[in-house]
Amino acid sequence: MSRESMVAKLTDLRNKIDEVDKSLLGLLAKRLSLVAEVGEVKSRNGLPIYAPDREAAMLASRRKEATDLGVPPDLIEDVLRRVMRESYLSENNKGFKTLCPQLRTIVIVGGRGQMGRLFDKILTLSGYKVQILEREDWPRAKALLADAGMVVISVPIHLTIEVINSLPRLPDDCILVDLTSVKNAPLQAMLSVHSGPVLGLHPMFGSDSGTLAKQVVVYCEGRHSEAYQWLLEQIRIWGATLYRSSAIEHDQNMSFIQALRHFTTFVYGLHLAEENVDLEQLLALSSPIYRLELVMVGRLFAQDPQLYADIIMASKSNLALIKLYYQRFEEAITLLEQGDKQAFIDRFKKIGRWFGSYAKSFLMESRVLLRQANDRRK
Ligand code: NAD
Repeated sequence: MSRESMVAKLTDLRNKIDEVDKSLLGLLAKRLSLVAEVGEVKSRNGLPIYAPDREAAMLASRRKEATDLGVPPDLIEDVLRRVMRESYLSENNKGFKTLCPQLRTIVIVGGRGQMGRLFDKILTLSGYKVQILEREDWPRAKALLADAGMVVISVPIHLTIEVINSLPRLPDDCILVDLTSVKNAPLQAMLSVHSGPVLGLHPMFGSDSGTLAKQVVVYCEGRHSEAYQWLLEQIRIWGATLYRSSAIEHDQNMSFIQALRHFTTFVYGLHLAEENVDLEQLLALSSPIYRLELVMVGRLFAQDPQLYADIIMASKSNLALIKLYYQRFEEAITLLEQGDKQAFIDRFKKIGRWFGSYAKSFLMESRVLLRQANDRRK
């Protein structure tokens, strides 16, 4: 084939690809508008925006149809999951059914903060009247709270107990809720200042997630649970999954999920900074997994240091856990010092057995993430 005819052939094929892409775009626009209609019906009828069973069944069918057409099933699943995420985000900006229309005003204490703003937005979109009580508003707190149907505490962790203790007497039927990342101390404080319904919530996501769809919200029962069932149901409508936990169990798990993780990330960041590594060079040399790891470390330092200090220093048991981890580090370093490769391998295998089938499924799950990370690489 001459060079001219090769160029002509390629141009022709590329034009055809462009046409297919345009058709795909048209189909995408059509799908998004159909999903928007589904969203309308759901919100009017109070159905959750995330329907796990429907999603799983739909993906299974598309995977099978893709295989029949010779299209890799993972490809269609990737594409559809991305499209669905877009739909969740847009559904999140529409209204939701008001499950408790008779509720009096909701007051969010700290409502102009990150989490407070998110709850202000979503509660307002769900038809509730929301007012904010910020730092400077305490002189009029009594008036603001006198007729509150629900009070949501969303202030920095280290101020939470003090703020709860400063609340004026609330109406007996007022629901007192907090969003704190630690649960036991705030829950106990709320139970002791208020004799009405009390609920502890922990949204397990950052305020930048954009949607509650597919997110987890932990709830810790306080008192008079019948009074706040509508709120739990409302959170389900927003698309989140609820996980019930005792406050103590929550805090124990959070020591691992948050305190230990954030602290080790902090130390890793500290080490990179102290060694003054060349981040650009590290990134250039990093395969997707190392890039992703670096991204997960670096993102911590773009966030609120006070929040992380509070989470890590929330309890003495966090410190004890971190010290235990430090001890494990020393034990593992001893293996290196002794040059005991076999002991290292034995340990490695033992840990693998402890992870059991999770190790394999984590490997599969991370593969998908790593491929996506690589797609974004410029
Ligand atoms: P933030 O610092 O962004 O907001 C706190 C807000 O409280 C601010 O607007 C501040 O002005 C206000 N405030 C401070 N002192 C006050 C006082 N005395 N009275 C009234 N308002 C006062 O903090 P945030 O990240 O939104 O965290 C709030 C709560 O949400 C915390 O308990 C945190 O554990 C929880 N939380 C946050 C996240 C997150 O990613 N941001 C995730 C899960 C849970």
